[in-house]
Amino acid sequence: MTRPTRARIHLDNLRHNAAIAAGLAPASRLMAVVKADGYGHGAESVAAALDDRVAAFAVASLEEAVRLRDRGIRRPILLLEGVFEASEVAEAAAIGAWIMLTCEEQLRWLQEAALTQTVTCWLKVDTGMHRLGVTPQRAPAFLQALRETPNAGPDTVLCTHFSRADELGQGETREQLACFLALCDGHDCLRSAANSPAVLAWPETHLDWIRPGYMLYGDSPFKESLPQAAALKPVMTLESKVIGVRDIAAGDAVGYGATWRAERASRIATVTAGYGDGYPRTAGNGTPVLVNGQRVPLVGRVSMDMLTVDVTDVAAVHVGDPVTLWGEGLPVGEVARHASTIGYELVTRMPARVPREAIT
Ligand SMILES: *Cc1c(COP(=O)(O)O)cnc(C)c1O
Repeated sequence: MTRPTRARIHLDNLRHNAAIAAGLAPASRLMAVVKADGYGHGAESVAAALDDRVAAFAVASLEEAVRLRDRGIRRPILLLEGVFEASEVAEAAAIGAWIMLTCEEQLRWLQEAALTQTVTCWLKVDTGMHRLGVTPQRAPAFLQALRETPNAGPDTVLCTHFSRADELGQGETREQLACFLALCDGHDCLRSAANSPAVLAWPETHLDWIRPGYMLYGDSPFKESLPQAAALKPVMTLESKVIGVRDIAAGDAVGYGATWRAERASRIATVTAGYGDGYPRTAGNGTPVLVNGQRVPLVGRVSMDMLTVDVTDVAAVHVGDPVTLWGEGLPVGEVARHASTIGYELVTRMPARVPREAIT
């Protein structure tokens, strides 16, 4: 028997979520963000499943784009951070990747590259995130320089990124959008601003291209429940099994460091999944886990290969019973909150040790 810990990847749910994103922004083109190995889901199978549903893909690096091309993905692929050195411009052009331009160095690398074909460029403008992008003041001249560069294709897209779109009613998103629209005014360029939270909650940001990532994988980036996000279906379900059940007495402690002590006679089930399988060690006592579909609390410290849950209050649990750590019936974002992080981090850090089982 093989170890039963695995991540089922429901590609049918992925397509369903892409349809939700497209439906929320019917006038926009859909760019599916599949960086970081498709947020840990397996970029190649994710992109293959979406290839006929989206207009383009986005990744974080040339290597990620090359992997998709090798897998036969033919849609445009945008390098979200652009290139990291001059030589990558020609390599990007050779595989038909689009590049983000975020600074003067990247512009110079583009201008100086010896290319046989043009590259479609996106110009990142910093409207308040202060991470990447040129200032709104610099943007017009930068665009002009692009127009004069034979290496740049004719259809530069203006792009910006929100810092607080996952906070409903946040004034900063409105300010960033107003700044972006003002600088776009008078330039005959397509515009892109919306990440997942903006696709879900800020329709005025949809513009010409939406760029959702996280929502495609089936979880809401919002803490509060949002009707638009209610129909999303989780793509990754992290599953395991019970490999031990024991009764302990009141006062007994469980696990490394004795971080949980039974207040009553308790039944403890041991699950073969731990931080070596991407389950966060920081998940506290009380983090929900599904055993036989029933919610039970995590108790004691998460180990590398195992974790323990209190099954005293649910119907009899046996060795071999199925366990869901997150996914179907238990949103990864909810587990993440118990571990002081976000669902994005949990799925993206899923280690290679955990087999991905694609379900089409
Ligand atoms: C990662 C990323 C996205 C997608 O963000 P989500 O919150 O996952 O939808 C969009 N745009 C840029 C520039 C990004 O880096």
